[in-house]
Amino acid sequence: MEIFKTRAEVHTYLEQLKLRGKTIGFVPTMGALHQGHLSLVKAAGEKANVVVCSIFVNPTQFNDKNDLENYPRPIEDDIKKLEEADCDVLFRPEVEEMYSSNDKWHMELNNLDNVLEGEVRPGHYQGVTQIVKKLFDIVRPDFAFFGQKDFQQFVVISYMVNKLGVDVQLIMCPIIREKDGLAMSSRNVYLSNQDRQNALSLFMSLTKAKADFGELSIPQIKKNAIKYLSKVAGIEMEYFELYNKNTFEPASFPQTENIIALVAARVGNIRIIDNMLLSNK
Ligand code: AMP
Repeated sequence: MEIFKTRAEVHTYLEQLKLRGKTIGFVPTMGALHQGHLSLVKAAGEKANVVVCSIFVNPTQFNDKNDLENYPRPIEDDIKKLEEADCDVLFRPEVEEMYSSNDKWHMELNNLDNVLEGEVRPGHYQGVTQIVKKLFDIVRPDFAFFGQKDFQQFVVISYMVNKLGVDVQLIMCPIIREKDGLAMSSRNVYLSNQDRQNALSLFMSLTKAKADFGELSIPQIKKNAIKYLSKVAGIEMEYFELYNKNTFEPASFPQTENIIALVAARVGNIRIIDNMLLSNK
């Protein structure tokens, strides 16, 4: 695997491969890699000739300074995992390489940045679009791979790509879970045993909502989930919502297709998010 730390070097290297007719599959990450990330690397390898992964803990998307400082950065382990997963290129810049002191960014995001994750984490999606646009400009991928785990992020990036006319195909990959159902996340390493147990309630609330779908009305499903989550000791629910996955607006009452349930909670000091498609379509 080739490892680059500067924009210029990785850009030049990839442009040469593109000139030789190679397609580029790109997997942007913040590192602390787990099977979820590696499933994206695998999907990229199946679709493109060259797999590029980036590891960059992007400061502009954090609205909690402690979260940024404490974010895990096991770079040697990550490199080993990427090599084992047959990743071709790793781009791992320092913050100064990606941002100058007078960097400014604001993009209209059609209100997508004001709901759910955007509401709880003001500025988060401005930071996400800022860094993803920079990375797309450097890597110029044919395909870019993102996890359904961050469903709203995929919706926001799709909006940005359409609006700015970026020439890339976005591909969403399924959520990879632990055996008991907990969605894998880099932050899970910080859960105590008890918190780890409590965190499972998010997955349970989604599974229950899916089982109830078709039997109960949308408002009733939401009500039951909120009631269930509010009874779990040790978690503080932030939202549980049923959305139309295509319009990313709250699901309307008689709707039977394209429904996704999205949930977020604080478990101890850690924020956990998860989601599940309820309808088959
Ligand atoms: P992150 O390093 O958390 O920014 O995530 C990098 C990419 O990995 C994003 O596209 C995430 O949606 C994706 N990802 C994170 N966790 C999972 C998971 N459990 N399953 C699938 N994809 C994931």
